[in-house]
Amino acid sequence: MTEAEDQSRHAELAQQINDARFQYYVLDAPTLTDAGFDVLMAELQALEEAHPEFVTPESPSQQVGGGLSATFAAVEHLEPMMSLDNAFSTEEVERWYARLGGPAELLCEVKIDGLALDLVYRNRRLATAATRGDGRYGEDVTANVRTIADIPLTLADDAPDLVEVRGEVFMTPAAFAALNASLEEAGRARFANPRNSAAGSLRQKDPRVTASRKLRFLCHGIGASSGQAPQRQSEGYDLLRAWGLPVSTHNVVVPDLAAALAYIETMAGRRHDLEHEMDGIVLKVDDRARQRELGSTSRAPRWAIAFKYPPEEVNTKLLRIEVNTGRTGRVTPYGVMEPVVVAGSTVEMATLHNAHEVARKDVRPGDTVVLRKAGDVIPEILGPVLALRPEGLPAWVMPTHCPGCGTELVEQKEGDKDLRCPNTRSCPSQLRERVFFVASRTALDIENLGFQAADALLSAGLIEDEGDLFALTEEDLAKSDFFTTKAGVLNANAKKLLANLEGAKTRPWAKFLVALSIRHISKGVAPDVARAFPSVEALSSASEEELSAVDGIGPTLAASITEWFAVDWHRAIVEKWQAAGCVLADEPAADAVPTVEQTLQGLTVVVTGAVPGYTRDTAQEAIEARGGKAAGSVSKKTSVLVAGESSGSKYTKAESLGVLILDAERFEALLEKGLSALD
Ligand code: ZN
Repeated sequence: MTEAEDQSRHAELAQQINDARFQYYVLDAPTLTDAGFDVLMAELQALEEAHPEFVTPESPSQQVGGGLSATFAAVEHLEPMMSLDNAFSTEEVERWYARLGGPAELLCEVKIDGLALDLVYRNRRLATAATRGDGRYGEDVTANVRTIADIPLTLADDAPDLVEVRGEVFMTPAAFAALNASLEEAGRARFANPRNSAAGSLRQKDPRVTASRKLRFLCHGIGASSGQAPQRQSEGYDLLRAWGLPVSTHNVVVPDLAAALAYIETMAGRRHDLEHEMDGIVLKVDDRARQRELGSTSRAPRWAIAFKYPPEEVNTKLLRIEVNTGRTGRVTPYGVMEPVVVAGSTVEMATLHNAHEVARKDVRPGDTVVLRKAGDVIPEILGPVLALRPEGLPAWVMPTHCPGCGTELVEQKEGDKDLRCPNTRSCPSQLRERVFFVASRTALDIENLGFQAADALLSAGLIEDEGDLFALTEEDLAKSDFFTTKAGVLNANAKKLLANLEGAKTRPWAKFLVALSIRHISKGVAPDVARAFPSVEALSSASEEELSAVDGIGPTLAASITEWFAVDWHRAIVEKWQAAGCVLADEPAADAVPTVEQTLQGLTVVVTGAVPGYTRDTAQEAIEARGGKAAGSVSKKTSVLVAGESSGSKYTKAESLGVLILDAERFEALLEKGLSALD
């Protein structure tokens, strides 16, 4: 071997050994056996013995294994990391554009709400990674950054010898939720938002912790570079991509200001659909020559601006914590705050879920709190601003009695986080919520029976509970101001309500089932229950064993159903509804003599993927018409899985349970001959 060959072999070995150490010590995922590692090390040491000049301080032979933990030494950026000027309105963006002194093509980028990072690649290998710090010096987080899968350790061959890459480290909303759930399970403090969690995860002493946090990265600029400077910022991104670095797919170049403003508006609507939190849009003049002409002020470039969307987190004063008794008796604390505008709407109340949640967040009436409202999601009190807490502010105490009826609150079962009002029959709060719920879209969808109407019916004594709803008459409603005009005659609302009640009497049985407010009967499970027990009589006479034998009904739900029907006044609701003409049953499909042969009697069939000639619904009807049961998910009770094209997890599950699997093409044969078609 020539000296040059030896030298290149030495470099190759050094790299392999360093990578193996990293895999072993940092990622806990060794790529080499100990013996394999030793072979490489022996070869490296032999080369160094022959060529002592190969030994450098960086050589693996000079390093102690495991010396890779983050130390956060200061690193000077090759080029300073400037910040951007902000714009909080389109007017400010317009003024910025006017100062550019003429039309300009703009590169529009989503502004990721994460942590800025500066990567230096030397000879196409990641040399250092640093946080922004003060813009000149950042913290050295190289060991941690090496665990981020999005960040390549080496760049493609055509990358320049030296390049400084800027970008943003972030955590996806899903990874953030999962991390918080596991922190909570471990009894540790949650992160307030994905940005904080990304920052906290990157600045870990132990890179293994960082590695476990599933951080992501996207580039948004190039600093120093020994390569040819691209003509346009957007071309720079194409280069980054070509070298193997991740760049956002949402970036676009637009011809003028109007198009940039349109982009800002479009992305506002997609703010929560992206893979990361986004707090604004960055506009950059795309032409680099133009950028140089415009130059920078002392703090920020003139050729870029960051448009910020309205904040989704604001501070406000928590005035008091009240409790509300819900439909099933659950008593929920909620915060009443000084009204504040967040994400474009005024908020003054937010649920606190239960007393444990209040204690965990340690929010107290009188605190300044951080309120978050993201998109259509309900507002959430994240926690107190402890620095602003008045001295001696007492903690909040959960009431021991129901605010609606004064009954002492109980835990449903030992250790339950929720407290309940046990006065289910006549607690006015529960009654009002139940009546309101009967009319909801989830249940019987009765228009003109809103919260106020429910309250009016109950407070005027027109109904004792939801059982009396369908027996309401014009004479009844005439007794309430809510349903009459000043002249004392029935108003339009009253007439509509009566008509809507009449119309609701023939809603599907599953809808009535939901309307009964049986615990654990959701709109999702109700159709399964209604199919297995096609009338209220069939359901109420079923034993717990019969109930739990049905797909989709677990033991909890089975117990809940039998317990519900064991209560006299519950059965009275059913009887009153039926007496008023409600039909709590589905049309018996097999009333007439079955015209099709019952080939699938006793079989449970699951259909997944596309079946030629059938839709999901017609396939289900075909199975049921032949006496079979069409189920939505695969379980041990499944007799056959009919797997069409693009079938996925159900196929795998059926395979693992040893369920018979049938090609979609043979579905017809199955219908015709039952299982004997398969022999
Ligand atoms: Zn109560």
